[in-house]
Amino acid sequence: MNQKLLKLVCNTPGIPGFEDPIQEIVEEILRPVCDEVRRDRMGNVIGQKKATKPPVGERPLRVVLAAHADEIGMMVKHLDGNGFIRFEPVGGLNAQAIISQRVIIHGREPVNGVIVPTNGDKLPAMKDMLIDVALPRDKVCELVEVGDVITFAQELVRLNDKVYMGRNFDDRIGTYCLLEAMNHLGDTSVDVYAVSTVQEEKGVRGMPVAAFAIEPDVGLAIDGSLTWGAHIGKHENICALGEGTGIYLMDGLTIADRRLLRFLFDLCEKHKIPYQRNIGGGTDASAIQRTGVGALATTIGAPTRYMHSTVQLAHSDDIVATIKLLVAFLENSHHLEKLVR
Ligand SMILES: [Zn+2]
Repeated sequence: MNQKLLKLVCNTPGIPGFEDPIQEIVEEILRPVCDEVRRDRMGNVIGQKKATKPPVGERPLRVVLAAHADEIGMMVKHLDGNGFIRFEPVGGLNAQAIISQRVIIHGREPVNGVIVPTNGDKLPAMKDMLIDVALPRDKVCELVEVGDVITFAQELVRLNDKVYMGRNFDDRIGTYCLLEAMNHLGDTSVDVYAVSTVQEEKGVRGMPVAAFAIEPDVGLAIDGSLTWGAHIGKHENICALGEGTGIYLMDGLTIADRRLLRFLFDLCEKHKIPYQRNIGGGTDASAIQRTGVGALATTIGAPTRYMHSTVQLAHSDDIVATIKLLVAFLENSHHLEKLVR
């Protein structure tokens, strides 16, 4: 594990539509390991690494890995007469997960605040929640305006020697795995496209544009796998923390190609990579699979407990397994040639 990189990736803000801070870091890290890195009009970062070995067919397959750079957050909606701030969620937040959380408003300068209890011992609806920044109203108006981005202040922490906690492991663990896979990639017979996508949390809005430009043959989204915990039983979320990378059989938007699944399971067996089957929520894989003429696609990723909360948990063994599978996948994906021609 590259602790320094993990920390940098997880502590950098980037809510849907405002991913520039994290995308700049991604570009910087991809540049030395790619032949070309560009950012498209939507803001997707696309790193291309050309095949270093001869292709199986007449041209190298185009193989995509995609992790979404956006994290759920909020936007300033209203400043009231007392200088309290109301906000609009950007991405799937729930009231329980955000009450009493420290936030940073990215105004004229960063402003610290907290989402305060406003309804006695009952949970307020999100529309009735207020952020208190503990400054006079005039000062608030000077620093903050409607439309400013709000992120959670929670930074990466280590709960114990194996488990990390963070506000945005969905999908910054995916971003970290994407970057580390590219850092460790050997020779390939395929052209690899490492894509750091935007606006996934608002309904997979970035990846379709990247996929349209790339025209992938095969692709994997990298995203958190739904994981049982105190919130939900194993019969509903079938992945467990620490038991290997999750391979999506199906999610709300994609039914994985069965031949690609078999290929991934076999790779895991051959390389002794721990894995588990996941049934997930909905990811960038849908756009890889269904843009243009279509591609073989699914999603893999480390189990992430309490996704869409500010206290998401991930296990270092699962992160390592995910990176290993991504590297093995890219280095062997030319064997999928016969399935896509
Ligand atoms: Zn996600």
